[in-house]
Amino acid sequence: VTSELFDQLNRATEEAKRGLADAATLDQLAELERVFSGKQGAFNEISRAVGGLDVEGKKAVGAALNAARSDLKELVAARRATLEVAERAAKLESERLDLSEIVGTPNDGHLHLVTQTRYELEDVFLGMGFTVAEGPEVEDDWHNFEALNFPPGHPARSSWDTFFVELGNEEQVLLRTHTSPVQIRVMESQKPPIYVVAPGQVYRRETPDARHLAVFNQIEGLVIDKGISFSDLAGCIDTFTQAYFGPGIHARLRPAFFPFTEPSAEFEVVCFFCKGDGCRTCSKTGWIELGGCGMVDPNVLTAVGIDPEEYSGFAFGFGIERCVQLRHDIDDMRVMLDNDIRLLTQF
Ligand SMILES: [Zn+2]
Repeated sequence: VTSELFDQLNRATEEAKRGLADAATLDQLAELERVFSGKQGAFNEISRAVGGLDVEGKKAVGAALNAARSDLKELVAARRATLEVAERAAKLESERLDLSEIVGTPNDGHLHLVTQTRYELEDVFLGMGFTVAEGPEVEDDWHNFEALNFPPGHPARSSWDTFFVELGNEEQVLLRTHTSPVQIRVMESQKPPIYVVAPGQVYRRETPDARHLAVFNQIEGLVIDKGISFSDLAGCIDTFTQAYFGPGIHARLRPAFFPFTEPSAEFEVVCFFCKGDGCRTCSKTGWIELGGCGMVDPNVLTAVGIDPEEYSGFAFGFGIERCVQLRHDIDDMRVMLDNDIRLLTQF
């Protein structure tokens, strides 16, 4: 009886192995597993028969049965892994969107000027050693305000006219008013040194006019490291300005106030229309205001658990549409949202 059971076990094992090799899908594999491990399966039958053997027989066949079962278990796992990879690849292939199909004929479209500018700005900062970070456009009060040193009731909050979302507690969920919450998210999730830029869309309850939109894009930079000083900030802004606007276009900083930086500054660049001589665009000053910057306030570092005694850093940010407007001499920012083909085809 014992040798008969061994034969039966070998046959069942061989059959299961053949089945495994033939299984072409995960469903077939699962079905096969049900068959050979099920109550009516060959292995269970052998297992029941072992019960009727003497002690020696139980030991020998039982051990062989366990070994065969654990071998098969491994084979099933290996087969499953292979099939999973294959099915995922097939799924990706079937869902692939070939966007390149729209390229080729002149009227099929291209990236919007604002998107082109965003990518160009990213490239400049990538070249300077920054990486790109992103965050959600629907934010909470902590990331958009509180961690950035705007406590509840802080007067500076009112200068950001906020769209609130009816979700959770009142005035706790909002459309981000700036890209600065990404700074908080980056500092919460990674240890210094940090060199990131965060581009993206922001929202403010503003009446659109020639220089303001209710939905626009910003790009924000954050550096946190040991021994970072204000001169590093000034050097970074000037390097960026020359890399993006061209040699000879320098930046200057003027004192300003922002809750999340101390000291804070506005940065201005040499007017690229008159190269500093003074014209209509720069109101005869030779300079054009572009954005804000400053040394990260120690309160902000403390809020995210970074020791301000050990690390320091700077942040800067400016509007991408503003950059587009200045660089391409566009009088009214609202045309960027008009979808007028006469404008779009120029860029
Ligand atoms: Zn000018």
